[in-house]
Amino acid sequence: MDMENHLSAETKKKILIVDDNPINLRILADYLEAFSYRVLVARDGRSGIEKAQYAQPDLILLDVMMPDIDGFETCRFLKADETTRAIPVIFMTALSETESKVEGFEAGAVDYVTKPLQQREVLARIRTHLQLRELTENLEQLVEQRTDELETAYRHLSRLDKAKSDFISIMSHELRTPLAVIDGYTQLLQDNTAVTNDEEAQFLVGNILTGTQRMLRTMNDIFDVTRIDNDFLRPYREPLVMQDVLDEVYIKVTPALQKRKLSLVRTGIESLPRIQADKVLLPKLFHHLIVNAIKYTPDGGQIRVVGQFRELPDSAAPIVEIVVEDNGIGIEPQHLELIFEKFYQTGQVNFHSSGTSTFKGGGPGLGLAIARGIVQGHGGRIWAESEGYDEETYPGSRFFVWLPVEPPTI
Ligand code: ADP
Repeated sequence: MDMENHLSAETKKKILIVDDNPINLRILADYLEAFSYRVLVARDGRSGIEKAQYAQPDLILLDVMMPDIDGFETCRFLKADETTRAIPVIFMTALSETESKVEGFEAGAVDYVTKPLQQREVLARIRTHLQLRELTENLEQLVEQRTDELETAYRHLSRLDKAKSDFISIMSHELRTPLAVIDGYTQLLQDNTAVTNDEEAQFLVGNILTGTQRMLRTMNDIFDVTRIDNDFLRPYREPLVMQDVLDEVYIKVTPALQKRKLSLVRTGIESLPRIQADKVLLPKLFHHLIVNAIKYTPDGGQIRVVGQFRELPDSAAPIVEIVVEDNGIGIEPQHLELIFEKFYQTGQVNFHSSGTSTFKGGGPGLGLAIARGIVQGHGGRIWAESEGYDEETYPGSRFFVWLPVEPPTI
């Protein structure tokens, strides 16, 4: 006896046969019932559709030639209806022309059998398609379950990420305030006659100040990065003269340039048009780029800042291009994009340094992430180019910044 005869009522698969010929219908129904299928029958397309909708069979055997609405039409209807779309349909066709087979597949059928029916063939096809449907359903369930799991994990991660950002932002704010107080008082102390007259005290206070200022810089950088991450870094635009921006940076980096015997040459900056940009953020951007050029160029090297007004062929808005070039250690091609990610360092830097200008003295890896955040906040582009990393030939690096002259209109 066939195994399927032992199946319980709930596990029995339901098959709907739609055929206008009562004799065909009876023979096929008896045959399938003998194999423990639950068989439903309908004599025309309309009642076939209705039965399919409420009984939700596992498979439909559909005659092509029927009065009123034919099999193709019935199938198209079943496939267009949300509730019956997934039920596999096998056509029973007396026509052996390829034309009708193609039309059947186009209407959404999964297979066809030709009349007069070979019962064993019908059974084999039914089994195959029931199995296929079961596999598909399992797979869909699995995908749905995995998608749910992924969504939950993603929501969890987003919450954690938000909590982390909030924490960093609060901490950097909380720490910046007392640090600024220490910094202020230490500066006062440094100028106090009791200290200026005492060499050892001068040395000690000087070291406190260096440490405090480094901490403050890092805190400010972290604060900027969290603002960028949270999309809070919005430029306040006003007309800026690029030369003024670079002068401000130049004043700050002059001691480091002198210490490291580096020259900084500016070209084409004075003839640049004014641009609509943030007067606090822009000096910060070039400060990060120039400090990097200082850090990764050996003593005696040269840093060039080259400006150019450009009207790009495929862009309506003209831009100002500023390239910060150095003849330092250079960057390997695989790092050129990643260096703009926060905390990313190339591993080419040998040691962390407390100074801002020490050769190859890596920092916390935030400078370029901030630079990119500022440029993107202005609707511009930033990228790096280098022939590679080499501490003997010093191929150098070029950091390109494109800033729109006018704020981009969105
Ligand atoms: P930090 O300098 O604090 O490590 P940055 O985000 O400013 O972080 O830079 C990331 C990394 O990119 C640096 O660690 C360094 O490896 C590389 N880099 C940045 N600027 C230069 C440069 N001008 N020449 C060579 N390498 C550079």
